[in-house]
Amino acid sequence: MNQVARIPHERAPLSASLWAATANAAPERPALTGAAEAETVVIGAGFTGLSAALHLAEEGHRVIVLEAETPGWGASGRNGGQVNPGLKDDPYVLEAKYGALGHRMCERAAGGGALVFDLIKKHGIQCDAANVGWVRSATNERTMRKLQETGRQWRKTGHAVDEIDAAEMARILGYSGYVGGLIDRRGGNLHPLNYALGLAAAAEKAGAKIHGDSRVLDLKSEGETVTVSTAQGKVTAARALICTNAYTGPLANPLGRSVVPVTSVQVATEPLSDNVARSILPEGHSPTDTRRLILYFRKDAQGRFIMGGRGAMKDADVLKRQQALREISEQLYPQLKGVAWQHAWGGNVAMTRNHEPGMHLIAPNVMAGIGFNGRGVGMATVMGTLLADWASGCPQDELDFPVSKARPIPFHRFRHLGVGATVAWFRVLDRLGL
Ligand SMILES: Cc1cc2nc3c(=O)[nH]c(=O)nc-3n(C[C@H](O)[C@H](O)[C@H](O)COP(=O)(O)OP(=O)(O)OC[C@H]3O[C@@H](n4cnc5c(N)ncnc54)[C@H](O)[C@@H]3O)c2cc1C
Repeated sequence: MNQVARIPHERAPLSASLWAATANAAPERPALTGAAEAETVVIGAGFTGLSAALHLAEEGHRVIVLEAETPGWGASGRNGGQVNPGLKDDPYVLEAKYGALGHRMCERAAGGGALVFDLIKKHGIQCDAANVGWVRSATNERTMRKLQETGRQWRKTGHAVDEIDAAEMARILGYSGYVGGLIDRRGGNLHPLNYALGLAAAAEKAGAKIHGDSRVLDLKSEGETVTVSTAQGKVTAARALICTNAYTGPLANPLGRSVVPVTSVQVATEPLSDNVARSILPEGHSPTDTRRLILYFRKDAQGRFIMGGRGAMKDADVLKRQQALREISEQLYPQLKGVAWQHAWGGNVAMTRNHEPGMHLIAPNVMAGIGFNGRGVGMATVMGTLLADWASGCPQDELDFPVSKARPIPFHRFRHLGVGATVAWFRVLDRLGL
């Protein structure tokens, strides 16, 4: 058991993560001091940055990763651990929009599940990975029809995404309130922080250097080189990859304003007794439902029940939302009443306007991958490989993803008002079952 149960440098209601409390031991990764050189400098050590660093280091590149806190500190170490492959839009939508590139995007994103589980196997990462499928549970007939169409399109393109009826859903969940849904057999679940720590260890083994406590304060691209500076050091490199997602802030402005950070929170019980554990998600699935303010839930390897949901912004709202999640859990599973809730935490999901992640060229030798819309376990790992492709010299028009300029979302400064109003409206629609 790791002694550091709190995420440092984070406001209280978001910091006491179950994943930090149950993390594998990790080495100290001291801050960068002085001047260093690399072929590629990676900024941010979540799934995106660590996957990019690992794949580049394996190809023999000299890579330095600079992380403001510790590897996995951001969303990668706090998420629901659901491996949910693919992009938000269905395959035909992306193919209609981008033609042949749309098909390549879909295939690359769809491969996120296999990529994650293969990396875990190849590098012996201890993160309780279970390729049991990702379950999507429909709350009503309207969303069921949408899921049916999604499943149909994936199957037409050769993917194992199967429809399940209400009875099978009830059996898998141990709860009978959903009308049916999908099981995406490419997905599953894992311990996200241990996955991130495993990627970090694998990247180091392949030759990458990772520095914690090294926030990049300045980035300058001049001619053939890019220089990034931290409080105590600087790295000069041929290229930089920005992998800071919802925590980008002012770096490479307007990159951070191309996404809206939305807080997602989770709560977890103590380990359940065997009887109760057997009655909830008996086969270890991790469903996401189709509410507008989605619920996602699962058990961890020690049999704790975990419930997550989106929508909180201010600290007071975070606490209220965490309490609401406990109450919803006990409505779904009355057998949880009386069980102690031991963990509550959260983090920021980066939402984009078109629901697609962005691969943004910031300067001729600086590329960013950002905006995974709550699907980063698979897709951020995939984005790391796309960034590695680019850093290895793959021409932009041959990448399996469109490259664009980072465009700020209009009125970004007032995003809290917009998100707050949207959350309130979605809550009403969810309550009405619309
Ligand atoms: C509560 C929650 C639940 C989620 N559930 C799921 C889920 O079940 N399944 C799923 O697929 N996705 C989920 N997501 C989304 C997923 O976690 C993210 O998409 C993914 O982790 C993004 O990875 P990343 O590496 O791009 O960013 P992050 O993991 O956020 O990493 C960015 C890193 O950059 C660092 N950084 C920022 N600025 C600087 C700087 N200037 N210098 C150096 N470092 C810097 C940060 O400290 C941070 O560690 C969830 C997210 C949250 C918050």
